[in-house]
Amino acid sequence: TYVVTDACIKCKYMDCVEVCPVDCFYEGENMLVINPSECIDCGVCEPECPAEAILPDTEDGLEKWLELNTKYSAEW
Ligand code: SF4
Repeated sequence: TYVVTDACIKCKYMDCVEVCPVDCFYEGENMLVINPSECIDCGVCEPECPAEAILPDTEDGLEKWLELNTKYSAEW
């Protein structure tokens, strides 16, 4: 899955939301999040993010962000 990280805070450009084929972006408290169980790992959103806030969760140190994305996307 892909996760949204802190570079998104107060950004909310929404370019990523428009390109996602499965609509798995949700609005968190002050940033967007991806629902990890809906994301199909297509990677289309990553280059669309002007803040480079979207990263694959295979990168190191993203456990905390994966948790936050899971938490905030589950509230919908
Ligand atoms: Fe949506 Fe694809 Fe990005 Fe996952 S990787 S959030 S499915 S655009």
